[in-house]
Amino acid sequence: MASTKYVYFFGEGHAEGRADMKNLLGGKGANLAEMVNLGIPVPPGFTITTEMCTEYYKNKAKYPPELKPQVEKAVARVEKIMGMGFGDPQNPLLFSVRSGARSSMPGMMETVLNVGLTTKTIPGLIAQTKKPRFVYDAYRRLIMMYSDVVMEKAAGIEPEEGRGVRQQLEHEMDRVKEAKRYKSDTDLTTEDLMDLCEAFKAKIKEVLGKEFPDDPWEQLWGGVGAVFQSWNGRRAISYRRIEGIPDAWGTAVNVQTMVFGNMGNDSATGVAFTRNPATGEKIFFGEWLANAQGEDVVAGTRTPNPINKIGKTEDTAHLKSLEEAMAEAYLQLDKIQQALEKHYRDMQDIEFTIQQKRLWMLQTRVGKRNGPAAVKMAVDMCRERLITKAEAVGRVKPSQLDELLHPMVDPNAEKMAGSLAKGLPAGPGGATGQVVFTADDAESQAKAGRKVILVRNETSPEDVHGMHAAQAILTAKGGMTSHAALVARGWGKCCIVGCGALDINARQKEMRVAGRVLKEGDWITLNGTKGRLYEGQLALVEPDLAHNDDYRALMKWADEIRRLGIRTNADRPQDAAQARAFGAEGIGLTRTEHMFFDPQRIRAMREMIVAETVEARRAAVMKLLPFQRADFSGILEAMQGLPVTIRLLDPPLHEFVNLNEQQTRELASDLGITYEKLDARIKALHELNPMLGHRGCRLGIAYPEITEMQARAIFEATAELTQRGVKVLPEVMIPVVGIVAEYVNQEQIVRRVAADVMKETGVKFKYLVGTMIEIPRACIVADKIAERAEFFSFGTNDLTQTGFGFSRDDIGGFLPYYIEHKILPEDPFQSVDQEGVGQLIQMGVERGRKARPDLKIGICGEHGGDPASIEFCHRVGLNYVSCSPFRVPIARLAAAHAMLKETAEKAAAAKAAAKKAATTRKARATAKKAVKTRTAREAAKKAAKTRAAKKAAKPAAKAKKAPARKPARKVAKRGRK
Ligand code: PEP
Ligand code: MG
Repeated sequence: MASTKYVYFFGEGHAEGRADMKNLLGGKGANLAEMVNLGIPVPPGFTITTEMCTEYYKNKAKYPPELKPQVEKAVARVEKIMGMGFGDPQNPLLFSVRSGARSSMPGMMETVLNVGLTTKTIPGLIAQTKKPRFVYDAYRRLIMMYSDVVMEKAAGIEPEEGRGVRQQLEHEMDRVKEAKRYKSDTDLTTEDLMDLCEAFKAKIKEVLGKEFPDDPWEQLWGGVGAVFQSWNGRRAISYRRIEGIPDAWGTAVNVQTMVFGNMGNDSATGVAFTRNPATGEKIFFGEWLANAQGEDVVAGTRTPNPINKIGKTEDTAHLKSLEEAMAEAYLQLDKIQQALEKHYRDMQDIEFTIQQKRLWMLQTRVGKRNGPAAVKMAVDMCRERLITKAEAVGRVKPSQLDELLHPMVDPNAEKMAGSLAKGLPAGPGGATGQVVFTADDAESQAKAGRKVILVRNETSPEDVHGMHAAQAILTAKGGMTSHAALVARGWGKCCIVGCGALDINARQKEMRVAGRVLKEGDWITLNGTKGRLYEGQLALVEPDLAHNDDYRALMKWADEIRRLGIRTNADRPQDAAQARAFGAEGIGLTRTEHMFFDPQRIRAMREMIVAETVEARRAAVMKLLPFQRADFSGILEAMQGLPVTIRLLDPPLHEFVNLNEQQTRELASDLGITYEKLDARIKALHELNPMLGHRGCRLGIAYPEITEMQARAIFEATAELTQRGVKVLPEVMIPVVGIVAEYVNQEQIVRRVAADVMKETGVKFKYLVGTMIEIPRACIVADKIAERAEFFSFGTNDLTQTGFGFSRDDIGGFLPYYIEHKILPEDPFQSVDQEGVGQLIQMGVERGRKARPDLKIGICGEHGGDPASIEFCHRVGLNYVSCSPFRVPIARLAAAHAMLKETAEKAAAAKAAAKKAATTRKARATAKKAVKTRTAREAAKKAAKTRAAKKAAKPAAKAKKAPARKPARKVAKRGRK
């Protein structure tokens, strides 16, 4: 059996991998291979597959025997290309060892650089480079990284806070700098570095009890193992949870020839984007540092320079761009970035290094972008004919639209406030929150319900949980490609980085800025679009989508694609108008209960509840009629003929008499009854499980006056608007139905009132009567209900509650535990539980449509605004989803995505079927050909035999009279047998 291929080589114009091999090679490995195949200069190396990572974990951190020879062969190939040797004392080759999962996990896993530097190879590298200081600096970086990543973390050692080996080595280095009064690392001399390396090695022995390895292969295998190990490190796991990356994917390991951006002033390193990831503008955008290594740019320890003149801002105008400093390399880079964007047909995030004027590409990947930038890029690229409309729609995640709907700092409030400091605008939008200085504090305080802003000198991957919990992130150091900026951009979070004026004392939990001292808990406001910081809580304003042409174009294309209708849940005319502006095509749910809580109205409601006779009850409830008529009139008019689903009263009655003793006494005297009597009535209404109690249609059945009044209010408003020439289409919806008779009971009342109103007013109008489907029994008897109901609307809040038997109000007590222990994958009240509740929905749809093929079906539970649930609704054939006004744009886009997915799946299925058919055809043709060949061969054989027989017979015939006749007959006889 052939052994599994675990190692894929790339280098010198040829790679064994390709861009579409991400699952096997990880994103970084697949793209390095693709760049090599495109002829772009990439340092040669090889990728160890993600399959190896899975094997590694399956076999308790052991490698299969075939890995070693494959790695050794790949190293030999690199050595040949480079004309250098790994471990060669004269001309040593050094490697970087980096992780690379399928989807990018910035900074979550480990990297070891300069692998291969040992006491034996150091002199060789010095001889080659003539730069002893550079070599010892590379060695000290290797020692620091290796001891931290391989010898401590990968070995599972968890040091006390502040006692990690890396921190102890940094301490040593600071001690030397302090003693010699150096300001920065670059002041350290060769001798300092040589001494430091020796001191480091001694320290490592002291702290970890082990020698730092002086063998290149030991270093290499240590690095590879550490990368695999880091897949299951704390921060990688935490990042995967947040981003929903499966644990089973594993990471690949990329081993690549080291190139150095820190070999002097003709060397550099940088990170760039083919378009601006914060605004989406088509401008080559990036940052670089002369005489530096890549980690210096991303770590945010040095604030980098802009890559080109066009990318300069007010604050960076004085800094030299790469375009100015190294024109030739910049031109080559610019050409490569253009080619890469064209090839990948998407914005690329690239990393490069210039070693003594020679440009090397170290990475390309699809760049993360915030919501506004995603919309702009998608629309621009479609207009540039780089992608199609469908691709443009598919490029923007529904959740990214949320960022376009994000509030901004009110410009007037901003003018008045006067900013405390300015930084780089890394994540747009505005945010206000209370200052916290550590990620743990951000997380715990956000859990306690506080809005916090995380303030750090710079962030590291260890901070991701706090960054996620915070409203916004503010850092004193770092550039637009620093860790904080990348992570915030990925999440669409407001963020300012490189705010140099901050003097942060995280231990004291305070910071000084512009002469002010701000402590933990103080309020600040961030304008992430402009990079400005303010003290206090400034007002935020909603964005203006009406004037965003890119957004409007994208939404138009989405509307052209989607099949699902989009409605909104709105109870007030102003919400209805807002939803229409967002593109809602109707109202899927108007909850009427809130309309009863106005002081004038609640009194009538309470009067109704305590009334003892039907007449008294009717008299009380009819006091509400004019109010309700006005409510419905406003909403119906706002929707201008679009369908408006109005649900009859739903909540348990006791919610209307939730009174303390004093309030009960006041109400009793107001209603002219005794306190005792009222108190007894209220107590009688008390329910242990009100959510499963006297609510929904059960109310209208016990108190038909309520249904009558509401139906009359709806139809009188309808008649009056129709008379005024306003188009209206009411749909009356009956809640919490589980029994067909419940529905019939309420429907009859509604239809009777409609007929009465038409007769009284002389106005004819259209209306529908339908039901919520929110009780499992309703799904089961959906066919019977559909014989009467003209529409269904799935109330998935209650359907989830009753389907699971979870109280929707109390699930918070155990849900986090359920999710943490993977008993549930997510909150079923946010995203439809497709496996269970989804089956109920499917059953309801199928049975309902069996009885009434044109049954209109929607969803109005909270799930109507959740992209995954919308995709499910599309798949099971709902007509529309209904969600809160601010989720309408997200729902429109998600519905288009659902359609795109369906189309792609159909195309893939058709392709697979065509391939299968072609294979079958080919197989048939081959079989036919084989039969033909066989027949021909057999025929030829037969003919040959006949010929032979004839030939044999001929001399016999000729020798008729000769004695040879006998044998000839013999032959013929044998042939007949
Ligand atoms: C539902 O149950 O999904 C629904 C929309 O109704 P409510 O949330 O008002 O119970
Ligand atoms: Mg409900």
